[in-house]
Amino acid sequence: MQIPDISRTKSAELYEKAKTYFPGGVNSPVRAFKSVYGTPLFIEKGDGSHIWDADGNEFIDFCGSWGPLILGHNRASVREKVMEVMQKGMSFGAPTALENELAELILSNNKYIQKIRFVSSGTEAVMSAIRLARGYTKRDKILKFEGCYHGHTDALLVKAGSGLVTFGETSSAGVPKAFADETIVVALNDKDALLKAFDDFKDQIAAVIIEPIPANNGLLLQTPEYLNFLRDTCIQNGTMLIFDEVISGFRVGFEGAAAYYNIQPDIITYGKIIGGGLPVGAYGASAEVMDHISPVGSVYQAGTLSGNPVAMAAGIAQLTELLQPGFYEELHDKTAGFVKAIEAFVAERGYELKVFTIGSIFWFAFTGKETISSADDIDPQSMLKFKAMHRELINRGIYLGPSGYEVGFISAAHTTADLETTKTAIFDSLDIVFEK
Ligand SMILES: *Cc1c(COP(=O)(O)O)cnc(C)c1O
Repeated sequence: MQIPDISRTKSAELYEKAKTYFPGGVNSPVRAFKSVYGTPLFIEKGDGSHIWDADGNEFIDFCGSWGPLILGHNRASVREKVMEVMQKGMSFGAPTALENELAELILSNNKYIQKIRFVSSGTEAVMSAIRLARGYTKRDKILKFEGCYHGHTDALLVKAGSGLVTFGETSSAGVPKAFADETIVVALNDKDALLKAFDDFKDQIAAVIIEPIPANNGLLLQTPEYLNFLRDTCIQNGTMLIFDEVISGFRVGFEGAAAYYNIQPDIITYGKIIGGGLPVGAYGASAEVMDHISPVGSVYQAGTLSGNPVAMAAGIAQLTELLQPGFYEELHDKTAGFVKAIEAFVAERGYELKVFTIGSIFWFAFTGKETISSADDIDPQSMLKFKAMHRELINRGIYLGPSGYEVGFISAAHTTADLETTKTAIFDSLDIVFEK
């Protein structure tokens, strides 16, 4: 049944004003609702699994600030720890015990890294990891995959041209061609393309970077077999393997995708969950590799606010909860049940929709294909259906990230009642989407 659109009067006013201050009215592009219906919603507060916009509309939130909020919004333990630490000042630019505490929490529970360096965003973590790999191997070229996002650093704002193996074409103005030329782009899940790249650029590739669980261009799940092949190929070529776990780290398990697939990368990047909702990124590796970083090593990397005490406090509080026994099992079971119910509904109705999922991540793909494992597998036309669904869901109090290429996240704060409400809203929305 069609229902009226929610009121966005206040959000629209704020957006008009924001457009006079910020390019496109936003401080990060996808927030602008360009590929979904209506004005972006200005959020006033969040609590648990719910958020409220400036017009007082309430939503069950599956964006979770794009992944960081695995415990939900405004978690008491995180808020209280942050407030406690803030009483003592907010930044010193000198070491604090809190950095040790967060590092200890991570390193003693993660067998894939021995040393870590904290930075302030995922982009910064990736940029630093790339520099480390180049410094370590004394090579310049980087290989990335079409459909993986690694933040907005120059060398990685590069997409594939046509052909099996391509030099990157910049996907942003302002990236020098010379930078893009150092980046090789191949399709995911294509062994031949990878081997050809290593053949074409023998002894030149410093690192292969991959989201082991690609979750920024749909959810392009790779087979363990392919990931192991990638690991072996890198070893054979003296190339470092970087797992960009900015989304998957602490999400599919405390040790992220490395443990999920039991693959040892050479460098791992983190972000999002690690900061409990505050700006934190990190990269880690073996002690031997990490000791190439300044001030012991010759690879320079620094940050005025790196290891910021307030941000460390949020990370400590959040990660402590993730280490509780059964945390991930419960979250994953909850997600699996949710996805299964939607799949059953879709099958019964005969709708062309798949819900891909891993851990507490899910992605709606309007497709008839059984698997989607590379960017090319996604039909851009299918995004029109997502757009229609997004509008119906917003009107029914369900907030998904405003793009069909983005995944959804379930948090520990989502209750059984939340998920029941959401399923009903999804079923009603799909009936409308597919009737059109
Ligand atoms: C979000 C993300 C980044 C960028 O992190 P920011 O904190 O937005 O700079 C990098 N890599 C992956 C895999 C991400 O999901």
